[in-house]
Amino acid sequence: MAMVDATEVDHLAAERAAAQFDVEEMKVAWAGSRHAVEIADRMARLVASDPVFRKDTRTMLSRKDLFKDTLRKAAHAWKRIVELRLTEEEANLLRLYVDQPGYVDLHWGMFVPAIKGQGTEEQQQKWLPLAYKFQIIGCYAQTELGHGSNVQGLETTAMFDPKTDEFVIHSPTLTSSKWWPGGLGKASTHAVVYARLITEGKDYGIHGFIVQLRSLEDHSPLPGVTLGDIGGKFGSGAYNSMDNGVLRFDHVRIPRDQMLMRFVYCTILLCYATIIICYNPPQT
Ligand SMILES: Cc1cc2nc3c(=O)[nH]c(=O)nc-3n(C[C@H](O)[C@H](O)[C@H](O)COP(=O)(O)OP(=O)(O)OC[C@H]3O[C@@H](n4cnc5c(N)ncnc54)[C@H](O)[C@@H]3O)c2cc1C
Repeated sequence: MAMVDATEVDHLAAERAAAQFDVEEMKVAWAGSRHAVEIADRMARLVASDPVFRKDTRTMLSRKDLFKDTLRKAAHAWKRIVELRLTEEEANLLRLYVDQPGYVDLHWGMFVPAIKGQGTEEQQQKWLPLAYKFQIIGCYAQTELGHGSNVQGLETTAMFDPKTDEFVIHSPTLTSSKWWPGGLGKASTHAVVYARLITEGKDYGIHGFIVQLRSLEDHSPLPGVTLGDIGGKFGSGAYNSMDNGVLRFDHVRIPRDQMLMRFVYCTILLCYATIIICYNPPQT
């Protein structure tokens, strides 16, 4: 009797053949355009035909081996993106089909877009080239142990110090610990951290700050930064390939220009007005 390789069998062929609608037209409607279908098809075949991207063993791997496997796939995906000169659209689809959330997903998916969307031209010119060349790896640190959907409730503080022109980033309570950010536990050197901007006792609400977490020399946490991996997660297992992390700050100082400032000129003007008034009270 001939042996059959189960991975070679198209189990859905009979179901597809029985469809009472035009499958090709449905693909176009689903993807949005023929162009999108063509790119998706090409990227799917690229992933399926590359042995480094194989998926059949991953449910059997320990968390540590799964993490290593993810690092290998993320690095290989990046190599193929560069070699094949893929566009941003193609690269995003390639990563989607690799289908194993990894340390760079939040770098590309949240850290870079946060800087692009909320950083000034000057800030983008400084930080984006470092991020594009992986000279820094970033994550997105918004959620806290006590605060998820309720972003206005975030407790991490960014206290402005006018004497040194710096922000002091601090985690004042246990519930203010950053909890969940992907790429934080092991990989990231930097984060966009969301914190309450406070000047002279006045709370100006939640803003984003670029904060360095680990040394670029030896990857150890910087003074005042406590962080780690939150460990295994229940569920489909997909996020066990990712180093979701915990992060606390003990009065960590960053330069003022590391606040993402594209939309905050009014806030800054208000801050400065408050400081000027506090230090030079009107004479009556
Ligand atoms: C795998 C994973 C990766 C993540 N990665 C990141 C990351 O990289 N960076 C980051 O900052 N965060 C990350 N998060 C956190 C994620 O963004 C939060 O889980 C999310 O914001 C929801 O917060 P929460 O889990 O505290 O739920 P909660 O906000 O406590 O919500 C609990 C439930 O209450 C409901 N609810 C909440 N508020 C209301 C309301 N006002 N009215 C009605 N219903 C409400 C919600 O729909 C939900 O069903 C990650 C989470 C997971 C699971």
